[in-house]
Amino acid sequence: MKILVPVKRVADYNVRIHVKADETGVELANVKMSMNPFDEIAVEEAIRLKEAGKAEEIIAVSIGPGEAEQTLRTALAMGADRAILVKTQQETEPLAVAKVLRAIVKRENPDLVILGKQAIDDDCGQTGQMLAALLGWPQATFISKLEIDGEQATITREIDGGLQTISAPLPLVATTDLRLNEPRYASLPNIMKARRKPLETLTAEELDVDVTPRLEVLKVQEPPARAGGVRVESVDELIDRLKNEAGVL
Ligand code: AMP
Repeated sequence: MKILVPVKRVADYNVRIHVKADETGVELANVKMSMNPFDEIAVEEAIRLKEAGKAEEIIAVSIGPGEAEQTLRTALAMGADRAILVKTQQETEPLAVAKVLRAIVKRENPDLVILGKQAIDDDCGQTGQMLAALLGWPQATFISKLEIDGEQATITREIDGGLQTISAPLPLVATTDLRLNEPRYASLPNIMKARRKPLETLTAEELDVDVTPRLEVLKVQEPPARAGGVRVESVDELIDRLKNEAGVL
């Protein structure tokens, strides 16, 4: 079995994001960039399937600027076998990414594509679903457990009020939820080894995919600042304030 894992380069989840003064987007200059956390979970799941003898090859793919090579090297250091960078300077929207991924799927013929459920920069949560629709493949979204038996996958999904278990034939598109696994850290020897693993660079034009954005971001704003709290001296004062100032009683 061959597994394709799309990984996106995003601002690290620990970074405090600042909106640009002109409200056109967020400040990314000199900001630490990392692999989207849900994609780390996807890479980890693919590696576990390989370690369990269920998969032979893991291919990581990223669509983005040249710097996305670092994200792919992280995936290689974790345990992916090779990587594909589809270079573009355009902002990538989910439909464009899904079309690029469809083109890669046609070239590579994977049995399973594992994506993150959502990229933490755009919060779209659309790419996996769009890719499944474009390919006409079944999709298992927000998965918290994945078992592969021959040509069949059994998937557990966390839904409101419980767990849902579904089954789907391969090839399949799956998107990871937070509790699927805990991704490993790449060891130093594996980081060194990853430098020599194959990384192919393509462009969207070579794949004949138009990645021109269809949406225009009109403005990005910081959330409103929260008003500070006050310390009250007694329960009576609390009740009085809730009644007369906050209007909640
Ligand atoms: P989104 O639909 O933008 O929230 O992204 C969902 C998932 O699609 C991510 O977790 C990635 O697995 C994948 N993805 C989105 N954008 C890219 C990209 N530019 N390169 C590689 N994978 C991506």
